[in-house]
Amino acid sequence: MSTLFDDQIPITKPNLGLEEWESIKDVILSGWVSQGQKAAEFEDSVASFVGAKYAVAANSCTSALHLALKIHNIGSGDEVILPDSTCMADANAIILSGASPVFVDVDEKTYNIDPQKTEDAISSKTKALMAVAQNGMSADLDSFRSIADKHNLVLIDDSATALGAEYKGKRLGSHGITAAFSFHPRKMITTGEGGIIVTDNKELADRARELRSHGASVSDMERHKAKGTIVQQYFVNGYNYRFTDIQAAIGLIQMSKLDTFINKRREQAVFYNNAFKDIEELEIPFVPENCYHVYSSYPLKINSIAKFTPKDILEKLSEKNISCRFGITPLHQEPYFSSQNLADRDFPGSCLVSKHTFYIPIFPDLSKKELVYIKDSILEFVDDLRKNR
Ligand SMILES: *Cc1c(COP(=O)(O)O)cnc(C)c1O
Repeated sequence: MSTLFDDQIPITKPNLGLEEWESIKDVILSGWVSQGQKAAEFEDSVASFVGAKYAVAANSCTSALHLALKIHNIGSGDEVILPDSTCMADANAIILSGASPVFVDVDEKTYNIDPQKTEDAISSKTKALMAVAQNGMSADLDSFRSIADKHNLVLIDDSATALGAEYKGKRLGSHGITAAFSFHPRKMITTGEGGIIVTDNKELADRARELRSHGASVSDMERHKAKGTIVQQYFVNGYNYRFTDIQAAIGLIQMSKLDTFINKRREQAVFYNNAFKDIEELEIPFVPENCYHVYSSYPLKINSIAKFTPKDILEKLSEKNISCRFGITPLHQEPYFSSQNLADRDFPGSCLVSKHTFYIPIFPDLSKKELVYIKDSILEFVDDLRKNR
């Protein structure tokens, strides 16, 4: 079978196989393909893995984040603080809730939002902080928790990239903060598309379930079990953010492989770290002692002494059929936000990260041979440039 992945080492590739293929067969033959029993099992599996009491799956992490904002009553007139260097989905979810995103610079070492600068950005309209785990590594949650407590703000943890990552020895999702995870193929596990929120608060979970399904007071499955004798009511207007049992069947298999995925990614990161740690032009990812990194992505930063840019190295690696990515464009630079006239000088961290970082392939099925080939290609490129200096 020829695929889009032929002839190149992709930046990422999900590990999906016959087990996932088999798992959807039962769901399809059962006749119940929308959100039902399998989705509930999958929610339980994620909740127990991360160590949260409740999990509510949704059709994407963006929807999950929107639900997270809504269940905490964030909306029109409110400001929500988020990192300037993150996925557009964070800003989109905030805008969708009716609130306004307020960008805060990131720490160039961790790629995560800077706690001190967060405190400086708080206004009388600030209602929530969105901490984001970038690349598979937690933000400094305790700093954000104390800022949130001090200013009476809601804290939401976008852990889209970081299922299995830990902060202070506990997995993200188990810190008593409403957290969201993504199941897009670029993330730790995949269900095609999909997301989930986790919380320890039953009332918040119930509200999320209601909003996820048009605002209905009764789920489709409950109505089915009651053979139509119960009728749903609508106390709120909601959305259709439901997950499907087909996705859940895939997700349950993926969950059973998650420990292996994490171990593989961490081994690959150790290989890259050892290969690049003594190259003076490059900076390997910095991991604070209190973080357990799961490397959903592997960024390399180019130091100021280097005579090359991410574009130079990406072009070289592309010729070698290695697919890489540029660092994240700061949100304040996106055309959509141009009317806000935000200045680069207020975001030195996210500007630096975007100008000097590039991402190299990392995913569970990346072979040792491919890893060595990627390492050799990067070292060869750096060596050639040194000779030409
Ligand atoms: C991928 C990602 C999202 C969006 O997830 P979807 O499931 O694609 O909606 C949100 N935030 C971060 C940090 C992400 O990396």
